[in-house]
Amino acid sequence: MRQHTSAAAIRTASGPVQTSFRDLTCGDARPEYAGRPVKLSGWVNRRRDLGNLIFLDVRDRYGVTQVVVDVSESPDAHTVASTVRNEFVVQAQGTLTTRLPGTENASLPTGQVELRAARIDVLSTARNPPFPINDPDAEIAEELRLRHRYLDIRREPMQRRLFARSRLVQAIRDVHHAHGFVEIETPMLIKSTPEGARDFIVPSRLQPGNVYALPQSPQQLKQLLMVSGIDRYFQIARCMRDEDLRGDRQPEFTQLDLEMSFVSEGDVMAFVEQMAIEVSRRVAPARLFQEMPFPRFTYRDALDRYGTDKPDIRYGLELRDLGGVVEGSGFRVFDETLAGGGRVFGLAALGMGGASRSEIDELTAFAKRFGAKGLVWLAVEQDGSVRSPVGKFLGEDRARRLVAAAGGSPGDLVLVVADRDVVAQEVLGRLRVEVAARLGLGDATVLAYCWVHRFPMYQWDEAAGRWDATHNPFSGVVPEDEELLVTASGDPTRPDRSDPAGRARAMQYDLVLNGWELGGGSVRIHQRDLLERSFALMGHSLEGMRDKFGGLLDAFEYGAPPHGGIALGIDRWAALLTFQTNIREVMAFPKTQSGADLMLGAPSPVDPRQLAELGLRFELPKRER
Ligand code: ASP
Repeated sequence: MRQHTSAAAIRTASGPVQTSFRDLTCGDARPEYAGRPVKLSGWVNRRRDLGNLIFLDVRDRYGVTQVVVDVSESPDAHTVASTVRNEFVVQAQGTLTTRLPGTENASLPTGQVELRAARIDVLSTARNPPFPINDPDAEIAEELRLRHRYLDIRREPMQRRLFARSRLVQAIRDVHHAHGFVEIETPMLIKSTPEGARDFIVPSRLQPGNVYALPQSPQQLKQLLMVSGIDRYFQIARCMRDEDLRGDRQPEFTQLDLEMSFVSEGDVMAFVEQMAIEVSRRVAPARLFQEMPFPRFTYRDALDRYGTDKPDIRYGLELRDLGGVVEGSGFRVFDETLAGGGRVFGLAALGMGGASRSEIDELTAFAKRFGAKGLVWLAVEQDGSVRSPVGKFLGEDRARRLVAAAGGSPGDLVLVVADRDVVAQEVLGRLRVEVAARLGLGDATVLAYCWVHRFPMYQWDEAAGRWDATHNPFSGVVPEDEELLVTASGDPTRPDRSDPAGRARAMQYDLVLNGWELGGGSVRIHQRDLLERSFALMGHSLEGMRDKFGGLLDAFEYGAPPHGGIALGIDRWAALLTFQTNIREVMAFPKTQSGADLMLGAPSPVDPRQLAELGLRFELPKRER
């Protein structure tokens, strides 16, 4: 194809873009270029055929420019233009002109001008797409979008989100470099590092019968880099975890992974907070921060006040412990719960005192779904009197005191759950979010970051009969709790749920944004003996430790600096910064809930020769054969 060259060729001062196929992008055309010869390339966004005049809106990533093809000016171009359809890729050459007064399009940055075509070339034809590309508001089934993701990404909303994500990663890189961090890539074929999920494994051809694990995170490698003296490491790291998928989970995802040497918990939190603020400001300058410095909650406080370790602090609706008020009330449900060591928590749903019976039934069903045996409710009338099915058991005076203790005022609905503390907290924590959604609380434009820290070091794994790390097995213990890292029996190989270790708190912190856990990290154990003690509580024999973590344990004998770090989910961060509730919306090529790539058709059967080379054979349950 002949390329049009011209003495008056346009040199764009800034921005991407001049190539042999175009002088300007479809977003650059402005009156200042009027009268100049211009060529543009892009997709046909829309064609309007008025007979002798054909209008082609030509689109690329940068914008849309109107091309006018007039049969009397250029009959050949008109012939070509009459054959093109939406999504054809074309090159248009001609003269950029200002539009006639009254025909400008104020809603387009290029709307003052149009290209009067002298020549149209079709660079590529296109089938009719399975969904409209040029309508950003079109409702399209997600499955169809994923099957034709390359077309979905051609649409403006996906492009906008992917560009925001790119700006996020760029800001992360800039801020880390400015703070002395070094970006280092770690391998994808590694030895398993447990992060609490199943590994994806890759069989080795060169060492038959052995496998690599795909990294659940670069955890051990980044700690080894601290032993190497790198001091400050970060990586935009791909992580793979074979777990059941939910809205904010994917089998592979991206983390901002970082590690720092010679740091305390406070040092890591201070850097990460500063970094999160700088990055947010650059990516989403219009968003306001709910609170700075970010509030910090201990794990215990977060559960007591919000019923969750990822509190959405854009609204109050805090939980209140009602144990003191209901003690000795004579109401069996409360008395038995307290006698059994359980707790009674409540929250005041502001202004919901007029809730209908069916609304209360819905909230009760919701509470039961998360394990509550029932939901007690008390509506506060305008005169302060209390209407409740349990009113007659509590008596007027105690019902009023309960409402006051829950923070209820006239017009509010107080919701109460009595159960084991974890159940009561979790149920009310979820009810809190549900009530907030019903009340329309939580300004979507606000960024409400907060920290949760001082997590328990371990949780008891009933099935395995051992302690398990609440975050990751390398987390350090709060110094004053170090002596708790022992078993009750004194025999380190016989953990029991009554061990002092169960009370130990970790130097561990989570960063939370608008009720989503953005990520977590810890200051690590950097002494081999303490790490071995901690591993033993988690049921690892000495040989087991050597097999799983031998490399790290050995390294710790060669001078390991105190160190700590964190990993933040980039997918979640990008989603929150672009007002999305599903991370698939900010991933170019995500998988479905069943882990499928609908576009490329993965996973797929494997060539038997490939299996034979690896010495593998599938033994599938009958129905899957
Ligand atoms: N490796 C941890 C994770 O992926 C993060 C950390 O502790 O730095 O959650």
